[in-house]
Amino acid sequence: MSDLTKATADSAAPMVKAEGVHKSYGLIEVLKGINLEVRKGEVFCLVGPSGSGKSTFLRCINHLEKINAGRLSVDGELVGYREKGDRLYELRDREVSLKRRDIGMVFQHFNLFPHMTALDNVIEAPVQVRGESKSAAKERGMQLMERVGLADKARNYPSQLSGGQQQRVAIARALAMQPKLMLFDEPTSALDPELVGEVLDVMRGLAEEGMTMIVVTHEMGFAREVGDALVFMDDGVVVESGSPRDVLTNPQEERTRAFLSKVL
Ligand code: ADP
Ligand code: MG
Repeated sequence: MSDLTKATADSAAPMVKAEGVHKSYGLIEVLKGINLEVRKGEVFCLVGPSGSGKSTFLRCINHLEKINAGRLSVDGELVGYREKGDRLYELRDREVSLKRRDIGMVFQHFNLFPHMTALDNVIEAPVQVRGESKSAAKERGMQLMERVGLADKARNYPSQLSGGQQQRVAIARALAMQPKLMLFDEPTSALDPELVGEVLDVMRGLAEEGMTMIVVTHEMGFAREVGDALVFMDDGVVVESGSPRDVLTNPQEERTRAFLSKVL
């Protein structure tokens, strides 16, 4: 296959594909055979009650957990393994960290380094992990701070920023590694209601630029307006999926209806 054909094949491949993904912690099975596909450029919303396995699934995609059975791939490559013929070889730590660079993750609790300024948080990984020069990283870091609307806060420490501002810095920090996929795990759940909008606006902008995003959220307005696909998960399985509008306005399953009646 020529390079060109390969590129074309890859761009058609889903960004994430899960086939019968199982994950247990000890005897407790948390993911019980997840099947789903996230296409490139798509905003994929993952919703469901607390404890249904949403965070665990994101952690599996991001190499933070190993799946016990099934197949999970990102951009056409298996997570955690290399395939050769019909054999699987576990990736070495170094190979895993290389792959993790391609995936940005934003958590409910922003997890910024408290002793570093906002800009230093953003340039930390490009400088330390990728070996970029500090001046080049700073220049790009400032562009990212602008993109999240915080150019004037670059020299502030996290404690001097609101929750919404800290979360926008966390998004800029994830973007600094130029990921091909962004994972958001309830990015607005810890915020005061009046700060939610500014974070969702940044995410909406990213979506418009074509970023592939998996968003775990209870913000159904965002899912409806920005989401391309929505999956409702409960107790480790995908209960229902479809376009956000369809699932939210016309849920087919009783469990989906019960959940939505609590969050809408
Ligand atoms: P969600 O994000 O949908 O709320 P989680 O993926 O965080 O769900 O958790 C799913 C289930 O897995 C929960 O019952 C939780 O207690 C359990 N769980 C999550 N992480 C661990 C862990 N590291 N060890 C043991 N159990 C865990
Ligand atoms: Mg969670």
